[in-house]
Amino acid sequence: MKQTYKPSMDTIASLCKRRGFIFQSSDIYGGINGFWDYGPLGCELKRNIRDAWWKNVVQSRENVVGLDASIIMHPKVWEASGHVGGFSDPMVDCRSCKKRYKADALCEEQGKNLVRTATGYALPDGIKCSTCGSKDLTEPRAFDLMFKTHVGPVEDDSSVAYLRPETAQGIFAQFANVLATARQKVPFGIAQIGKAFRNEINPRNYTFRSREFEQMELEFFIKPGTDKEWHDFWVKERLAWYEQIGFPPESLRLDVHPQEKLAHYASACVDIQYEFPFGAQELEGIAARGDFDLTQHQKFSGKSMEYFDQETNERFVPHVIEPSAGVDRIALAIICNAYREEWVPKGDGNNKAPVEAEPGKQAPEGYETRTVMQFDPKIAPVKVAVFPLLKNKPELVEKARSVFSKLSPIWPCFWDQVGAIGRRYRRQDEIGTPFGVTIDFQTVEDDTVTLRDRDSMQQTRLAINDLPEKLREILA
Ligand code: ATP
Repeated sequence: MKQTYKPSMDTIASLCKRRGFIFQSSDIYGGINGFWDYGPLGCELKRNIRDAWWKNVVQSRENVVGLDASIIMHPKVWEASGHVGGFSDPMVDCRSCKKRYKADALCEEQGKNLVRTATGYALPDGIKCSTCGSKDLTEPRAFDLMFKTHVGPVEDDSSVAYLRPETAQGIFAQFANVLATARQKVPFGIAQIGKAFRNEINPRNYTFRSREFEQMELEFFIKPGTDKEWHDFWVKERLAWYEQIGFPPESLRLDVHPQEKLAHYASACVDIQYEFPFGAQELEGIAARGDFDLTQHQKFSGKSMEYFDQETNERFVPHVIEPSAGVDRIALAIICNAYREEWVPKGDGNNKAPVEAEPGKQAPEGYETRTVMQFDPKIAPVKVAVFPLLKNKPELVEKARSVFSKLSPIWPCFWDQVGAIGRRYRRQDEIGTPFGVTIDFQTVEDDTVTLRDRDSMQQTRLAINDLPEKLREILA
């Protein structure tokens, strides 16, 4: 069903905590800003996102291979990539209320642009603290986004290392090894999923801007001169993937970066954005980065990053197209996109369809309000819930157990025998389980069960033996 209103982020955060999708990191100690933990349902959801990406980007293509690089790498990697010294955001502090902002975001919020100066940045006239309204702000100062650590027992300058701020550099640094071993020819890609760390000035919008997050990145190496066609190709491929995992096309936006905003080495960049309750924001950036990264590593390491094309007898440093997506942002977008409040006939409807609730209004007579997470079945954390109608009837429980053990090796299943069946359906609606299987007295007689559909609330009766095939059909 099409969603016509957007839940607030408070509503989303409260559901995520209540039902075990996302918790504050170190919650019992009051949390730590910019860090999050994924609970039982959140980690299943993230796993499904990663699997769907890996299947689409790596497994189903003969010209993309995977990599799992270390998080801490030689510090030279970050000098070559331009992150040491260059990976910083200008920030401003409010001297009155001590709030800290990314200078460009604060200016943008107030309809202005941060001013570039010969030595750095300056605030345009009239910028105020958006928390307390004070104009007593510091000048913008560079803030290094990389987390530093030390490798080995001695903490001095020679042992400094960094937690990677992106997964991409692990791929560039292993380009030559993969090329020598993977029997690939340009054009081909190397993909990686993994954690990245950025000491963001102002983590906000729930998990959207975190200090520890997960990226899914592809570096697709191409022949120089084919940049535009491959960039267009990957923008289309990536957009199609978002639709495949259940995003309605109208919830997605393409933000094409104008030429003057591109990094000096890039020829194109397009962001895929989702319409979050706090505005349209980036889920993924797809950039044509030329040969910048490989050339930098060639220079800093002294090792050749050239490719020899046997067909044309040409030698060149490949150019690269980089689709770079964030697992956490996609998870948050999926959660926002799935959230619905509906009015449903009491007693779970007797096959009557639900209607969208009017925000803030009581359900009409004979109806109750349900919260339902309409995840695409492919991405839903739990696929099937199994319910014995009554928990104190051993023959029902035993039969239900046998159904559960038939399905649970194939899909994540949920066992629930407690409470009235209508309440159990509601609990599954709220975590977005697409199917409920109820075992009742008729099951004991003829080995049939009812299969309840989360969205339509329709119930159909079918034989236990036909259940896996039927579910496979819908979940495929
Ligand atoms: P932004 O402009 O929002 O800071 P970015 O352009 O710096 O993002 P990239 O460096 O292109 O982001 O990183 C690629 C992807 O990694 C982003 O599209 C996003 O999905 C994810 N990502 C980046 N920073 C964060 C973060 N702080 N928290 C969560 N995800 C992030």
